[in-house]
Amino acid sequence: MRHALFATVALLTALAPQPAPYDLLLKNGRIVDGTGSPWFTGDVAIRGDSIARVAASIGEPAARVIDVHGSVIAPGFIDIHTHARRGIAEVPTAPNYVRQGVTTVMEGPDGSSPLPLASFLAEMDRLQKSINIGSFVGQGSIRTAVIGNGDRKATADEIQKMIGLVEQGMRDGAFGLSTGLFYVPGTFTPTAEVIELARAAGRLGGVHESHQRDDAAKLLDSVKETIAIGEQGHLPTQISHAKVIGVANWGRAADMLRLVDEARARGVDVTIDQYPYTASSTSISAALVPAWVLEGGREATLARLRESGAREKAKAGIVMMIRDERGGGDPKNVQFASCGFDPSLAGKTLADLTRARGLAPTIRNAAEVVIWIVQQGGCQGIFHAMSERDLVRILRHPVTMIASDGEIPIFGRANPHPRSYGTFARVLGVYVREKKVLTLEDAVRRMSAAPAARLGLADRGVLRPGLRADLAVFDAATVKDTATFQKPHQYAEGFSHVIVNGQIVYENGEMTSARPGRVLYGPAKH
Ligand SMILES: [Zn+2]
Repeated sequence: MRHALFATVALLTALAPQPAPYDLLLKNGRIVDGTGSPWFTGDVAIRGDSIARVAASIGEPAARVIDVHGSVIAPGFIDIHTHARRGIAEVPTAPNYVRQGVTTVMEGPDGSSPLPLASFLAEMDRLQKSINIGSFVGQGSIRTAVIGNGDRKATADEIQKMIGLVEQGMRDGAFGLSTGLFYVPGTFTPTAEVIELARAAGRLGGVHESHQRDDAAKLLDSVKETIAIGEQGHLPTQISHAKVIGVANWGRAADMLRLVDEARARGVDVTIDQYPYTASSTSISAALVPAWVLEGGREATLARLRESGAREKAKAGIVMMIRDERGGGDPKNVQFASCGFDPSLAGKTLADLTRARGLAPTIRNAAEVVIWIVQQGGCQGIFHAMSERDLVRILRHPVTMIASDGEIPIFGRANPHPRSYGTFARVLGVYVREKKVLTLEDAVRRMSAAPAARLGLADRGVLRPGLRADLAVFDAATVKDTATFQKPHQYAEGFSHVIVNGQIVYENGEMTSARPGRVLYGPAKH
């Protein structure tokens, strides 16, 4: 009897110090591994911050086991084009992104990044956050720092300075150079100058991504320019948030994609990202006011608008931009996301405001109101000016990846574009399940392995042992976006668990207290 007891105690003692081989084990999933391969039933084991094993059945014990009951287990989504620095300090849990499966966001888009990048990344490193963040370095920010916002060519000396800042940005940890040739001062930048900067980024292993010069009448010239920057800059190049703006230009997605295919056929590594909505979002002035009016900054703009000749010319330009471009042909197609000078305008349309100012909502009257808005300090807008057919055509293209172009909203504040809350869930719910535009596996690939490959992130984006454990678990039958243009502050549904660097950050409807997010650095950081 005593012997038996002793033996039992000895056995228990021998077993007790053995740690469970895994920290976390997800069982009975439908594994969509990110590569595009067909799903299979299986388990995923995690140890520390890494995936330890992916197999049909894992029998070894784990500190915690979660039965996901047939839900999809996918790599956490990598959002390659975001404005996450709008909000991440205030809301470092980024629930709008986490609750749609996003585990990594990329900043510094559209030619706009903090400079020097090193201090921004150090700040992000100190921040206790739920998600990973990396950044591009912005051509527009560099040009502003060296020569301001004027419409003039750079001197040879200034170009050398700008190249120096690109190199510094890359060494600070950028993944490449972003351009916003649609915006001031990108719009004043000749292609040849961009190419010189792109070449510097490429030499250090970076990629180029662009908010193109024009997504409307000059769309195809802009696509050619984005391709030329890659081809002559000797680096991968990406069309950011690919879109066709303006009724007169609808249908040109086919021509855009033909240019992409031709370029790829001759060896240019050009790719695309896109959000699944037919409305864009940027400032009212960038979208509806000609660039020459904005040259040189706010005081110069206001001075021009006080001078009657320039004001009339500006108004004619605004009329054209409402009629043929981001205005979508009607002031009711322009919605306010936020207005610093009058928060109550959020959610209302340019037609509403034109009426409220005692005018019939014609395009000409709305142009007057746009000038008034600029004088008041400006607004962020949402612009309904794309077609579903172009959207679907671009989405189907094999080199298109999914990116939100969103930010981290303060929950309930203003009326942001719903893409910040819904992009990834919307692709899975609407374009995979309902419309069957993409298969589940292909959609996940465009959210994980494809952006990881684009960025050169070798340790994320695929479910494979040894890689970082960023995972999203969702029900393919119920996943959906709920944020709308009228009610944007609504989280995506259908996700049960989101894991970042091995730790659960979201579980069954609640953000957890874990803050495992890291800063990710590009290829030239030592
Ligand atoms: Zn953009």
